[in-house]
Amino acid sequence: MAVRAVLCAPLPLLRGLLQRCWGRLERGLSPGFSGGQIPPWGPALALQAPALVPQPVNASEGDEAPSLLESILWMAAPKKRRTIEVNRCRRRNPNKLIKVKRNIDVCPECGNLKQKHVLCGYCYAKVKAETQLIRVEIHKKEGGPFNAPTVETVVLYDGEKPTGKDEGKRIIERARKRPSWFVQN
Ligand code: ZN
Repeated sequence: MAVRAVLCAPLPLLRGLLQRCWGRLERGLSPGFSGGQIPPWGPALALQAPALVPQPVNASEGDEAPSLLESILWMAAPKKRRTIEVNRCRRRNPNKLIKVKRNIDVCPECGNLKQKHVLCGYCYAKVKAETQLIRVEIHKKEGGPFNAPTVETVVLYDGEKPTGKDEGKRIIERARKRPSWFVQN
C-alpha cells in the first residue's frame, strides 16, 4: 500500500498542471477573449511562401486572406530514401563511366601520342605555322590579296636552286633549312 501511495501521489499534481495548461491554451486560442485590442495568443504558423508565386485574384472575395494551401509552393519530394548502395550502383554504372580509349597510337613523325586514323595535332600545328610563314613570303613578294595562281608554286629553302623543271612556276624562297617533315623536291 505504501509503494502504491508513493506512485500515485504525483498523478493529481500532473493532472492539475495539464488542466491549467490546457485552460490557458483554450483561452488564448478562442477569439474575442481579450477584448479585440490585443491579438489572441496562440501558436503561430511559421510558414512563409515566396512572394514570386502569383496570387489568385478573387474580385468577389478579395477581403479574405488566401488560404494555406494556395500560398504554399508545392514541390515534388521523394517518398522513399534510396540507400547508398543503390545510389552507387547507379552512379558507377558502366554506361555512365568514361570509356577507355584503345585507339591511341604513336605518331611516326614526331613520336607524340595521337588517335589512330586521325591527323597528329603536333604535326598539324607545325605544318600550319610553316604554311603561314610561306604565305607571309608570298605577300611580301606579290602583295595584295591572295589570288589563286594558274601556275604551280614551288617553295625553295636555304641552299636550294631552281632546277630546269621549275621553269615558269611560281617560286617562293624561305630563309631557313628545309624541315625534314616538309615535302621534298
Ligand atoms: Zn606528329
